Amino acid sequence: MDQRYDVVIVGGGAIGSAVAYFLAAEKGFGGSVAVIERDPSYAGASSALSASSIRQQFSTPGNIAMSRFGLEFLKSDALALDGETPDLGLREDGYLYLATAAGRGVLERNHAVQRAAGADVALLEPAALADRFPWISTEGVALASLGLSGEGWFDGYGLLQAFRRKARALGVDYLTAEAVGIERERGRVAAVRLADGRRIGCGTLVNAAGPHARAVAAMAGLELPVAPRRRSVFVFECRDALPGCPLVIDTSGVWFRPEGTRFICGTSPAEGEPDPDTTDLTVEHQQFEEVLWPALAARVPAFEAVRQSGAWAGLYEMNTFDHNAVLGPHPELPNFLFANGFSGHGLQQSPAAGRAIAELVAFGAYRTLDLREFGWERLRENRPILELNVI
Ligand SMILES: Cc1cc2nc3c(=O)[nH]c(=O)nc-3n(C[C@H](O)[C@H](O)[C@H](O)COP(=O)(O)OP(=O)(O)OC[C@H]3O[C@@H](n4cnc5c(N)ncnc54)[C@H](O)[C@@H]3O)c2cc1C
Repeated sequence: MDQRYDVVIVGGGAIGSAVAYFLAAEKGFGGSVAVIERDPSYAGASSALSASSIRQQFSTPGNIAMSRFGLEFLKSDALALDGETPDLGLREDGYLYLATAAGRGVLERNHAVQRAAGADVALLEPAALADRFPWISTEGVALASLGLSGEGWFDGYGLLQAFRRKARALGVDYLTAEAVGIERERGRVAAVRLADGRRIGCGTLVNAAGPHARAVAAMAGLELPVAPRRRSVFVFECRDALPGCPLVIDTSGVWFRPEGTRFICGTSPAEGEPDPDTTDLTVEHQQFEEVLWPALAARVPAFEAVRQSGAWAGLYEMNTFDHNAVLGPHPELPNFLFANGFSGHGLQQSPAAGRAIAELVAFGAYRTLDLREFGWERLRENRPILELNVI
C-alpha cells in the first residue's frame, strides 16, 4: 500500500469537498482524510457548470430540509479563513413556478408540503402575479408559486473553492489522480487503485464522483442508477430591466433568471423526449432558437428582442430511479458510502449532504437531519421518493 487514510473521497467537486470539510471540522472525528480529484481545474465538473440556484420549492420534506440547511450554511461564516468569510454572492430573489390549469392541483399540494416544512412561499392568482411582475404575460397561467425569502442563487464555483480551501486548511489532503479501481476484501473496501499505479488504503470510501459516480460504483462491482445527462445553459441580454425578476420556471418547463445585468436560461427534455447518457459537453446550440427563445418571448414580451451572448453545457448526475440523491452506505459494502444522484440540485444540497456523510462516518448514524429515506434500501425495495418539482 502506498498510503493509507481513514477516509478516502473520490471526487473533489462541491459534494466531495463538502464531505471533506465537514469531516475535518467534526470534533467527534479525528481521522485522516484524502480527496482524489483527477482534474483540479474543474473544467468539466458539474459544480463549475451549474446554474447555482437554491430553492425550497420541492415537493418532499427531505429535499426541503436539505436545501434549507444549504441556505443557512451559505449565510454562515463556517467557511471563513483567517477571519475572512468568502463572499458567495447569495441573492434571495426567489423562484417563481408557473402552472397551467392542469398543473394547478400539483402546485397547491406542493405548497401545503412546503408551508408545513417552514418554507416562506406564497400562491399567486394571475391578477396578483401581473400586479407583482408587470413584465410577465399571464397567458395560460392558472396559478403561480413564489418564494418570498430563502430562495435564489449564489456563486456555486465559489462555494466549491471555499469548501476545498477550508478542508485543506483543516488538514485534508487533495491528491491529483484518477481512481481506476477499487479493491474489496472480506466484504469491505480495502483500497483504491489510481491510474498512476498507486494504491491508497482506506477505512471508509466515499463516492462523490458526480456524473461519473456510476463508473466509480462499477469499480466495486456495484450498479448505481446515476447517469450523466447534458444540460445547456444560454446567456442572453435584454434591453429592458425586469424589476425583482426571480428564477422563473415557465409552464413550458423553460427556466430563466437574471445573472448580473444579463439573464441565463435552459430547459430539460419533456417527459418521453430522448435524454441520452453522454459526457459530451458540446452546447446544443439549436435549442436556444427552437425551444427557449419562443417560450421566453411568449412569457415575457420584453424578451422578443434579446441577444444571445454566451452558452455552456454541463452534466446533471441524474438518478434514473427517482431523481433524488443516493446517500449512505451500500448494504453489501458497509464502508463504501455514496453521495450521488442529486439530479440537478446538488450544489444547494452539498452542505447538507457533506454534513450527513460526515455524521455517518463519525458516529455511524445521522445526528442532525435524518436522511435515511435517501439510502440505498429504497432502490433495492423499489420505493421511489416521488419528487414532483424536477427542473
Ligand atoms: C447546467 C446545470 C445546472 C445546474 N443547476 C443547479 C442549480 O441551479 N442548483 C443546484 O443546486 N444544482 C444545480 N446543478 C447540479 C449541481 O451542479 C450538481 O448536483 C453538483 O455540482 C454535483 O457536485 P459533485 O461534486 O457531485 O459533482 P462534480 O462537481 O462533477 O464533481 C465530481 C468530481 O469528481 C471527479 N471525478 C470523477 N471521477 C473521478 C475519478 N475516477 N477519479 C478522480 N476524480 C474523479 C471529477 O473530476 C469532478 O471534479 C446543475 C448542474 C448543471 C450541469
